[in-house]
Amino acid sequence: MNKILNYKKLIIFLSILTILTVSFVIYNMNNSKAVKISYTEFLNKVQNNEVSTIYYSEDEFIKFITKDNRTFLTENPRTFDFKEKMLLKGVSVEENSSVPIANTIAGIVSFSIIAIFIIMIAQKKVKSSSASLVSVHYDSENATSVTFQNIAGNEEAKESISELVDFIQNPEKYSRFNVRLPRGVILYGPPGTGKTLMAKALASEAKVPFFAVNGSDFVQVYVGVGAARIRDLFKKARDKGKAVIFIDEIDAIGKKRSGRADGASDERDQTLNALLSEMSGFKDSQGIIVIAATNRLDVLDEALLRPGRFDRHIEINLPDVKARYEILKLYSHKRPVAKDVDLFKVAQMTPYFSGAKLENLMNEAAILAAKDNADFITFEHIDKAFNIVVAGFEKKERSHISELDKKITAFHEAGHALISKIIAPENSVKKITIIPSTKGAGGYTLNIPQDKMFKTKKDLLNNIKIALGGRAAEEIIFGKDNITTGAYSDLQHATNTLISMAKEFGMIEEIGLLSYTLMESHNLIESTTIIKHCREIINNAYSEVVNILQNNFNLLEKIALVLIEKETIFEEELEKIICYENLK
Ligand code: ADP
Repeated sequence: MNKILNYKKLIIFLSILTILTVSFVIYNMNNSKAVKISYTEFLNKVQNNEVSTIYYSEDEFIKFITKDNRTFLTENPRTFDFKEKMLLKGVSVEENSSVPIANTIAGIVSFSIIAIFIIMIAQKKVKSSSASLVSVHYDSENATSVTFQNIAGNEEAKESISELVDFIQNPEKYSRFNVRLPRGVILYGPPGTGKTLMAKALASEAKVPFFAVNGSDFVQVYVGVGAARIRDLFKKARDKGKAVIFIDEIDAIGKKRSGRADGASDERDQTLNALLSEMSGFKDSQGIIVIAATNRLDVLDEALLRPGRFDRHIEINLPDVKARYEILKLYSHKRPVAKDVDLFKVAQMTPYFSGAKLENLMNEAAILAAKDNADFITFEHIDKAFNIVVAGFEKKERSHISELDKKITAFHEAGHALISKIIAPENSVKKITIIPSTKGAGGYTLNIPQDKMFKTKKDLLNNIKIALGGRAAEEIIFGKDNITTGAYSDLQHATNTLISMAKEFGMIEEIGLLSYTLMESHNLIESTTIIKHCREIINNAYSEVVNILQNNFNLLEKIALVLIEKETIFEEELEKIICYENLK
């Protein structure tokens, strides 16, 4: 490799040398012997009949030869009849082409030199930058300190992964029975659910080095760099003997191939191929396991999922209430938490929280307790932390919120809460608040659906109606022209649910049972029908919500007034206000 590089350098060097020599010779051939004289001297020589030939050109200087064979240069007068005058004086005039040719050659030569230099500099740049890009920064930890005990919930996933510990430690045991050991495992699920944690725990329990990289580190502008980085990564791991390689966001390199031949997909294909061939390259008995993480399994290229590659797929889910309780206990363990804090209640308040978010919740609560110089973390600290995690910091300065803003938010939130209580009494409305957060939410209603595995069509439609409750209340109280931007995220949420119902869950009869998401991936899109039916459903749902609120106007007003007064109300109080007999 080095020899080839030196040879290339030598050729470039010799070419430059030749070009320089040739241009020097040409230049000298043309002008070296020529003596410059003034135009009047030239005219004198013509007058005295000393000049034999003029080499006429459009250049600044013209060359001429005297009868005694000497060469001169003089200013070119550039008069239109110069040639005629000279001819009349008996001087032979040759349209001089040698000088322009020399100039052209000189031009070409200088251009070539500049071009060669630019190419050399660019090559050098690419080489040096790709050299620095080839090696990736690895989060390499020798036997991390995380163990499976640090992971709560996801029991099945934990079990599957812990099986791999023995494969890594004693591969010979299995190879004796000709077992094909897993080389790659894909952990898929929402962010913050502990996928990295699992891979770390595996490395730590197997007592092998841990190499962590991110898929996006391998997607580079220069084709081939990603592939080189993959080879570098595997080489480093092989050098260590046994290892766990963790590739987060594998979809950055392992997305289904688009079939388009653009530069970006070229680079990705090369990187993916490098990864696949590295994985096929190591022996079962080697004790290297590659764990990849992604949020979505369905976007990955099938080639990645074949046997001998990433053939184990383990789902990591958001924790259920029991797992949330376990995670909360885990992060309360080394913190002074007041005895009367009911962590199970906190777990119930936090559906859809990932492990990372729960960890964040307890950390924020601990910060608040420390700031308060408190002895323990209390429920109030956790509740405040909850606001921070869910909605950003509570705004401390509330005086600037106008009475009107407060009223709008109160009716908006009361709309959500009341619709939830009326159409989905099985849901619990844990908390309603009109305290604005720094994330921009005017307030929020914490509506928690029942914890169940499957959602029915009715559940989803109810979610849409609950989301529309805020806007409907605004319209009823303040009039059609005074509705506000406050429903922005509600409408997004409703639309999102509706799109999933239509495209993924086959829940809208007129649209049918086809998975439109899949159809889209085959470029079979029929979006106008979907939009038409979705619009119809959301409009009907909205009318229904407006009707319900109008029929229960008194209750809506009551909730809003209490909210304006107290700013935050919890479930018990809401139940008291509503008192089901009052519902219509
Ligand atoms: P992912 O890789 O799925 O995005 P991570 O493993 O990086 O998530 O999780 C981020 C942090 O969240 C972890 O460092 C840990 O503090 C916390 N965490 C997430 N899930 C769990 C869990 N099941 N048990 C304990 N802690 C968790």
